[in-house]
This record gives sequence, structure tokens and C-alpha cells, in this order.
Amino acid sequence: MSVNASLDERRPQFRDHRAITSFSVPTPGDAGTRALSVQALATALPALDLFERLRAIRAHVSGRIVFTTSFGLEDQAITHAIFSQSLSIDVATLDTGRLFPETHEVWAETEERYGRRVATFAPARSSLEALVAQQGIGGLRTSLAARLECCNVRKVAPLGRALAGSAAWITGIRADQSAGRAQLAAVAFNERHSLIKVNPLFDWTREQTLDFVQAHGVPYNRLHDRGFLSIGCAPCTRAVEPGEPERAGRWWWEQSDKKECGLHSEAT
Ligand code: SF4
Repeated sequence: MSVNASLDERRPQFRDHRAITSFSVPTPGDAGTRALSVQALATALPALDLFERLRAIRAHVSGRIVFTTSFGLEDQAITHAIFSQSLSIDVATLDTGRLFPETHEVWAETEERYGRRVATFAPARSSLEALVAQQGIGGLRTSLAARLECCNVRKVAPLGRALAGSAAWITGIRADQSAGRAQLAAVAFNERHSLIKVNPLFDWTREQTLDFVQAHGVPYNRLHDRGFLSIGCAPCTRAVEPGEPERAGRWWWEQSDKKECGLHSEAT
């Protein structure tokens, strides 16, 4: 049986979407229209399953949509919903140059499984060379400023290129990942990138995500089997002990409870 045939058999039956066809989310422009669109999408999504959520976002956003993945559990669930339904949503990743080999392995496995490419956005060569010349390859742990500068060169700047010209940005953020993320929103207008940002798993738990990945046989990063709950760059991620917060393994030497790389620093 081919991979595609197998996926077709797994494709769910979709519920009637008429309840959510009375609004549209245009390319961001007028603030009033934008606010209504964001509110309408935020109201519609909770009643839908993940496949339907991605279809609804695609159906009601005019223009390019980008989903950024780091190949974690949540991102793999969303990738499955996009690729298995052949949705016209660009899947992109930020290859920082410091990723785990296991992350590259699940990346390759994902492309093979679905027969789709994940677009990669790398740090600009001149910025990267200047960063390493200035702080050294291990300099990111010398101060918060140095770490944020590394994240800026390796992640934040490439993200800007990945999202350029897009009407909407999808991410795998869940509210219960951290106190900081709980303050975000499932759908909001992102001023920095001038687009609508949608977090379709915002109301899901880790257990729901795991159930989805297992139920659909979605490829996942093998580091999850070794205690890594949240997976980023290799120098900045460790496994967590049972009972530790989900993101405790990220930048663990820092004290802040709002540890982020700058990608999600706005109110979305
Ligand atoms: Fe640099 Fe660590 Fe940020 Fe990756 S997570 S960009 S290695 S500071």
C-alpha cells in the first residue's frame, strides 16, 4: 500500500462548515475589519477538531499562510493536519545551525512520509559570522543579552523572512505550556509581522496532542522518548525530570519564568 493510499484511508470525514462560512479573514488592512475577523475565527475554532481547524483557517484567510514548525509534538500534529489534507499552507522551519540530529531525522522522515518539502530559513551568513566572531560558539550562555542575540540572529531574523508577505501565521503554541504562553491568545493580530497569528492547539493539553500523534501514526522526534518535552537548539535544551514544568528544559540556566527566544514575544 502506498503512503498516499494509507493517508487517504486515515482522512477524517469533515463536519459541515456552514456555521463558520459567514465571515472572512482578509489580508490585514482596516483595523475594524481585522478585529471582527480575528474575533470570528477565535469564536469558531474551539468547536472544531484539528483537521477542521486547519481547513477553516485556510478557507477564511485570503493570501499566503505560513506554519512554522520546529518538529516538536504539537508541530507534527499540525503538519499532519496540513499535509494529509493537501492544504495550501506553507510549512517552514528555522534551521538555526544548532539543531539536534534527531530533529533533522524527524524532518527527513516527515518529508518522506507526506511527499512534501518543509521550506528552510537559515541565518544570514554575514550576521552569523559576526555573531560567532563576537561572542564565540559558546558565548550564548555568558549572559541573557548574549543568548537573545544568538536567538535573534539564528531565529528571529530568519522568521521575518519566512513570514514576509503573509496574511497569517500558524504556530503550535499551547496555553498550558507555560504561564507566559497562557497569557497569549488563540487568534490575534500580530503587529510586528502585520498578520493574523493563529495557534490552533491553544486549548489542547499535551495528552491530547500525544493521543492525536499516536492515533494517526505521525512521525515524532525520538528525543521525546528520552525526557525532552520541549525541543529547541541542542545547546539550549535538556531533558526534564518527571514533575518538572514542560519548558523547564529550555535555557535551564536562566531564572526567568518567561523563557522565550523572541519569536512569540508579542501578545500573540
Ligand atoms: Fe542560539 Fe540557543 Fe537561541 Fe538556538 S536557542 S538560537 S542556540 S541561544
